[in-house]
Amino acid sequence: MINHKKYFVKHNEKLNLSKISTSDTNGLKSKKDAESKLTKNIKELAELQAKLYAQDKYAVLIVFQAMDAAGKDGMIKHVMTGLNPQGTQVFSFKQPSKTELDHGYLWRINNSLPEKGRIGIFNRSHYEDVLVVRVHDFIKDQKIPDKFKNGKIWKQRYKQINDFERYLYENGTIILKFFLHISKEEQKKRFLKRINNPTKNWKFSEADLKERTFWNDYQNAYEEALSSTSKSNAPWYVIPSDKKWYARLVVSEIIIGKMKSLKPDFPKLDREKLKALERAKELLLNESK
Ligand code: ATP
Ligand code: MG
Repeated sequence: MINHKKYFVKHNEKLNLSKISTSDTNGLKSKKDAESKLTKNIKELAELQAKLYAQDKYAVLIVFQAMDAAGKDGMIKHVMTGLNPQGTQVFSFKQPSKTELDHGYLWRINNSLPEKGRIGIFNRSHYEDVLVVRVHDFIKDQKIPDKFKNGKIWKQRYKQINDFERYLYENGTIILKFFLHISKEEQKKRFLKRINNPTKNWKFSEADLKERTFWNDYQNAYEEALSSTSKSNAPWYVIPSDKKWYARLVVSEIIIGKMKSLKPDFPKLDREKLKALERAKELLLNESK
C-alpha cells in the first residue's frame, strides 16, 4: 500500500502546487511495477462495488479535476474497467447550456448524482464554477444578483460547496476528489504527442493552447479552491500525474481504502426470509413437468 496521506489536502492550509511533485512515484520505477498491483486493485474494486450495489445504502461520488491533458479520461477508463456498468455512472461537465445557466451552478450537479448503491464519476464538476469561471470572469454572464458579483463570491461558493457536500455525506454519499497534478512541461509533451500522432489529433483543440497561457491563474485558483473545500467528509487529493500508471495506482488504492471502510457486504436475510427461500427451493425442486 502506498502511503497516500501525503497527497491529502489539509483544510484551509495554504497549498502551493508548485512545491508538490508531479512526478513522484513513491519508489516505483516503472509501469511494470504498478501494472500487476493495478490489476489486483481493479478486481478488488469490482468485488467492493458488487457489495455496495447489493447493500444499496451508500453512493460513492468520485470527482476528477485537472488541467487539460492530465489524463482524466484515461484514468476513468483504466480504473473503472471491470466494474459492473449497471452500478457506475460517468458524467462529464462542459460549458453550461442555456438551460443550465437558467439555474444555479449546483443544479446540473444535483441532477447527476449517483443513486444509492452506485459509483458516480464526475469528469469535471461544480468546481469549474470556482476555476474556469474565476480565471475568465464568466461570473459576469451568470444570472445572479449584481450585489453578489464581487470579490467575495469565491469564498461564498466554497462555503456553498462545503455545505452541499456535507449534506450529501450526511445522506449517505461518500465523496472523494482528485486533482490530477501535471507539470506544464508534461502538458506540452502531451499536446505535441496529440499533434504528432494522427490517431490522437482529434484530442487536440486550439482552445487548449489558449487555456495553457492561463496556467498560473489556474494553479492559483486550484490552490485556493482545493484547500478551502478539502474536508474529512469530502477530501481532496493532489495526485502526481506525470506518470499516468502511478496516478492510476494511487487513485485506485484511495478508492479501495475508502470503500473498505464502509464495510459493504451482501445483505444478510432474517429467519423469515431464509425460511421463504427454503420454501421456494422446495417448490422448484418438486415442480411437476
Ligand atoms: P478532453 O480531455 O477531452 O479535452 P475536457 O474535460 O477538457 O476533456 P472539453 O469538451 O474539451 O472537455 O472541455 C470542456 C470545457 O468546459 C472545459 O474547458 C471546462 O473548463 C469547461 N467548463 C466546464 N464547466 C464549466 C462551467 N461551469 N463554466 C464554464 N466552462 C465550463
Ligand atoms: Mg479539453
